[in-house]
Amino acid sequence: MNPDNTTAQGTPAEGELPASATRNACKLCSPLGAAMVFKGVRSCLPFLHGSQGCATYIRRYMISHFREPVDIASSSFSEEDAIFGGARNFEQGVENVISQYQPELIGVATTCLSETIGDNMLGMIKSYQDKHNSSGPPLVHVSTPAYTGTHSDGYYGAIDQLVRTFAKPMTAKIAGHVNILPAMMSCADLRHLRELCELYQLSPTILPDYSATLEGSSWGEYHRISPGGTSLEEIEEMGSATATIEIGHTRAYLKNTPADYLEKTSSVKRHALGWPLGIRHTDQFVTSLSQISGNRLPESLKDERGRLVDAYADAHKYVSGKTAAIFGEPDLVIAQAAFLSEIGIRPIICATGAKVKKWKQLLSSEIEGGVADVEALSGTDHAKISARIRELKPDLILGSSKGYPIARELSIPLLRIGFPIHDRFGGQRILQVGYRGTLAAFDRVVNALLENKQDTSETGYSYL
Ligand code: SF4
Repeated sequence: MNPDNTTAQGTPAEGELPASATRNACKLCSPLGAAMVFKGVRSCLPFLHGSQGCATYIRRYMISHFREPVDIASSSFSEEDAIFGGARNFEQGVENVISQYQPELIGVATTCLSETIGDNMLGMIKSYQDKHNSSGPPLVHVSTPAYTGTHSDGYYGAIDQLVRTFAKPMTAKIAGHVNILPAMMSCADLRHLRELCELYQLSPTILPDYSATLEGSSWGEYHRISPGGTSLEEIEEMGSATATIEIGHTRAYLKNTPADYLEKTSSVKRHALGWPLGIRHTDQFVTSLSQISGNRLPESLKDERGRLVDAYADAHKYVSGKTAAIFGEPDLVIAQAAFLSEIGIRPIICATGAKVKKWKQLLSSEIEGGVADVEALSGTDHAKISARIRELKPDLILGSSKGYPIARELSIPLLRIGFPIHDRFGGQRILQVGYRGTLAAFDRVVNALLENKQDTSETGYSYL
């Protein structure tokens, strides 16, 4: 089953959903999020325990977005394995992966099928390791039943498992060492987070870091596993950092997150922050960097901030009073809502396919002027989102390529953000963090509105 292509039974009225059905889900499959994290660990091969089609679907999505080779192994269930369990396939699959890829780590995620039949993954991994005297690469497992979660859950779940499995409890601290646990961001975002840390003379361990594995340079020779990523040694030593910055608005309210675990086991101070998009959230991010490093805001960032403030002032007349619909991963949607609200655009539809507790409450702390007029849709699908867009007719839509049909139908500009972007080039390079990323995002928003105004003008003009 491809979760973004499910079909409702019957013929409900336009925009109305039968309680039990989803039409064109606004989410992707959980193992996809886990695979993305595993791609951000050095010499790690993602391995899906289940059917081959799941790995193929995930590979296709990742390749079309990142435009890079993405190898994902599978235990390739047959009908027999679906009945009697996939232990035999798992063992054979792991042996094949080791002989063909020589990985330093194998990241195992479960598919709907293996979760449904209840395969005991931890038991299988232990029995494989006992049989081979733990001689091969380590295996880490994350449970990813896609029928109860989304790609965001798989993403955060894989980070959690990596930290809990490998980070050693440590008391000694290394000055200047900081951990960054990012939300599901672009390769350009991850690179800029590192750059920001380095401006404060901090040395970051970013988990995951797929900025090179999923957007590398051209190779002189073929690599079976793309170079780059966070090394296992770096994960083991996350306890030696002085602080962990955990990014994601929805994470900030949770206990028992990986940053919380590091704080409990190694006294690494947790800084739970929203996505550093917009002036307010970037200010909070650089304030944390300043507190951790003891260094003041570097001049170059002061200049970037100044240029951003100037741009807000210059273009306020183009954005003020406009409305937008946003859909995608929960943390991305909240980050965009906060940003749009900051620049004077009203985010009247904020939708996610994930079922997020207190979704409206989370949004209300980020949107100025309350959320009484905001459609806060959680656990929703594209049929419902499109119906609300048809009714409310926002000036702008922000989301993945999945928003194209409704944007085209209503001639509303679609600003492509998040994942997947497979009808445009460069989705992996969209920068949306820091003052620089905010300025780039601001330019995109302003220009999309100007372009639409120009395109739909009856008279036509070239000076705005
Ligand atoms: S894991 Fe589940 S949702 Fe994902 S592709 Fe496989 S069957 Fe579909």
